[in-house]
Amino acid sequence: MSDSTDSTSPSPLKKKGGKKIMIAVVAAIVVVALIATVVLGGFLNPNEQTALEKIKSQGKIIMATEATFIPFESFDPTNGTYVGFDIDLANRITENVSAELGVPITLEIRDVAFNTIPASLNNKQIDMSLSGMTITDERNESVMFSTPYYMAEAGFGMLVKTADNSLNSVEALTSASSIVVNTGTTSEIWVQKELVDKGLYPANKVKSLPTIAGCVQDVSIGQSQVFIIDKPTAEEYAGQSSGDLKVSAVIPSYEPYGVALNKEATDLKEIIDRVINTMIENGEMEKLRIKWGLN
Ligand code: GLN
Repeated sequence: MSDSTDSTSPSPLKKKGGKKIMIAVVAAIVVVALIATVVLGGFLNPNEQTALEKIKSQGKIIMATEATFIPFESFDPTNGTYVGFDIDLANRITENVSAELGVPITLEIRDVAFNTIPASLNNKQIDMSLSGMTITDERNESVMFSTPYYMAEAGFGMLVKTADNSLNSVEALTSASSIVVNTGTTSEIWVQKELVDKGLYPANKVKSLPTIAGCVQDVSIGQSQVFIIDKPTAEEYAGQSSGDLKVSAVIPSYEPYGVALNKEATDLKEIIDRVINTMIENGEMEKLRIKWGLN
């Protein structure tokens, strides 16, 4: 009997002890699982990857551009490809990123409205943008730029119909019947600050369109009297217009172009800056300018 009491009395204690161990084991498993989820989740969550890690896992660099900013970017319908100064530079960047990562990386080009680019960089839908984008203090707040790769030194060109001789100076702009600009560009900001905000020109006579080609078309069909855009692009469109359009005057402005990136993309910026600096030093950038008729 004493045996049975001996054997039965410790057993509830043993069971209690077993339960405690079980609870401790389950709790430990839960804790380990939670830690694993957080740690692995961190690795798997694309938002936690660096720019280069994201590119490596995608196998491509996603680039955005507004592809009517000639000669920097345009769509070549005969080959179904994008061409231009920025495209050549983007390909050089892609080659270098691929070499650095030691895996093949392709370049995917997305043609978008210019003013959507900063937001797409911020939410990492795209990895970089080459779109003749001027490095400005305002843009530096929301995106990160590479070192400048091109300077549109002379500033903006005023693109008008060749037959129109009424807008031969910057001052004459105040008498323009209508002005068209591309949404989100530095020339749109210039018109706002220098003409509208100063009370020199009514806001309702300024039209803002989402593509450069659309703005050129607006002048060509006589809907707007003048399109203001970076001088090299204005000249390129005038040259391609078979005598229909001309650059009637130039507005001085400092327009250094940079590759736009997400603010966190420091590892990608490092490679891009290196590519740009090397190309400036070894004369490749100069060759690229000549290839695309730029000075
Ligand atoms: N350089 C100008 C800007 O950054 C125009 C660029 C463009 O229209 N693609 O606003």
